[in-house]
Amino acid sequence: MAIKPPVDESSLEHKHLLEGDFWRRLPAYGQVDEATFLDHRWQAKNTITRVDKLLAALQGVVPESFIRDAEVGFRSAPMNVRCSPYLLSLIDWNDPYNDPLRIQFLPVGSRLLPDHPKLGLDSLGEQADAPVPGLTHRYVDKALFLALDTCPVYCRFCTRSYAIGGDTEGVEKVSLKANRDRWSQAFEYIASRPELEDIVVSGGDAYQLRGDMIREIGTRLLAMPNIQRIRFATKGIAVMPQKILTDDDWFRAIVDTVKDGRALHKDVVVHTHFNHPNEITGITRLALNRLFEEGVTVRNQAVLLRGVNDTPARMGLLIKRLGYIKVHPYYVYVHDLVSGVEDLRTTLQTALDLEKHVRGSTAGFDTPTFVVDAPGGGGKRNAHSYEVYDRTTGVSIYTAPSVKPGQLFYAFDPIDQLPVAGRERWANPAEHEPMLAEARAQLGLR
Ligand SMILES: *Cc1c(COP(=O)(O)O)cnc(C)c1O
Ligand code: SF4
Repeated sequence: MAIKPPVDESSLEHKHLLEGDFWRRLPAYGQVDEATFLDHRWQAKNTITRVDKLLAALQGVVPESFIRDAEVGFRSAPMNVRCSPYLLSLIDWNDPYNDPLRIQFLPVGSRLLPDHPKLGLDSLGEQADAPVPGLTHRYVDKALFLALDTCPVYCRFCTRSYAIGGDTEGVEKVSLKANRDRWSQAFEYIASRPELEDIVVSGGDAYQLRGDMIREIGTRLLAMPNIQRIRFATKGIAVMPQKILTDDDWFRAIVDTVKDGRALHKDVVVHTHFNHPNEITGITRLALNRLFEEGVTVRNQAVLLRGVNDTPARMGLLIKRLGYIKVHPYYVYVHDLVSGVEDLRTTLQTALDLEKHVRGSTAGFDTPTFVVDAPGGGGKRNAHSYEVYDRTTGVSIYTAPSVKPGQLFYAFDPIDQLPVAGRERWANPAEHEPMLAEARAQLGLR
């Protein structure tokens, strides 16, 4: 008999969410009371958008050497700084180099690595598949609508660093004016394509849209007979859950759009972006409870990041914790080929290993699919479905028969993670094309 003994409640780490006034640990927020900290307006107003202000908030909290290191990091980073008080207060400033949130939002010069020679700013080729600026129609029945280009925070590793996060102050209003026309063009295109059933409304981040804008997008799309599914994408829930609790205008706009959709037998859901279990606190649980009570489905799309969630323990805890707060882990993306963040990328093998550990640990519908978004516009591919994977050169090849039949899509492991033989070949530009040719030759042998 294989009857399992009961586990000790205290070992169920996914249920132990950070509670209390943890933000007071940071001197900058030492005097902030709970009602203030839970107010989304205070969070937005105190979001730090300048490197000097950020570093000033850390004076006396971290060694001077760390501050100088971060200055160097920001100088060469492709993304601007934008960090909410909530995020800053979740970072363990006693160990900033290894903190999983620091790694995602604040670059430090000493950890940067040279870019892979195959990296680019729009590695997914989103602009090439866009019939209207900001509307990518790559798959047959679904399209990606980038409604705006700002977010409540800026991630170092943003896959859309080609577009996102240029300006910060007041940018929503400016781009709204400029965008009305663009939105209309996008809506007209979507309505003109009977094959389109599913629209991802992203950006940027739907958190930055006003309630009336959410309603406008929802109403326009739901009115189209071809559209059956809409997803609003926002990282906001992960970095500023306060907004779900106190921004009734935004919250009701989402809930009403979900309900309008349901009455029309159309599916409206929210997709979000948690990467590490530390991003899920007692405040997050309150926010997700509020969405759940209103019947709003929330799914998560995480990015696999070195030093953040690339071990079975961390990825496993993230997934269990998401399920616990009723967020469905949907995807884990192998990091795209984005410039300036080579230190964050992992090998494909890392994703394959993690999947093996994670599957079986919880409900199948709460088990994410590990995907590679094929560079050059092949779309998302199950990480395991590679045609070729050379672990010495780090070159993998994918095909996408229902997206771009006949084409090959190449992905590349980070060079510093390769065996010596692979690293030496990438150091020699004359070897680059032969490595791809060898991978193609293996394809022919299958
Ligand atoms: C991710 C993505 C979608 C949605 O794809 P799903 O696999 O259904 O989540 C649609 N269009 C583009 C361009 C995308 O990148
Ligand atoms: S929230 Fe998303 S779109 Fe915005 S910076 Fe982060 S990864 Fe990029």
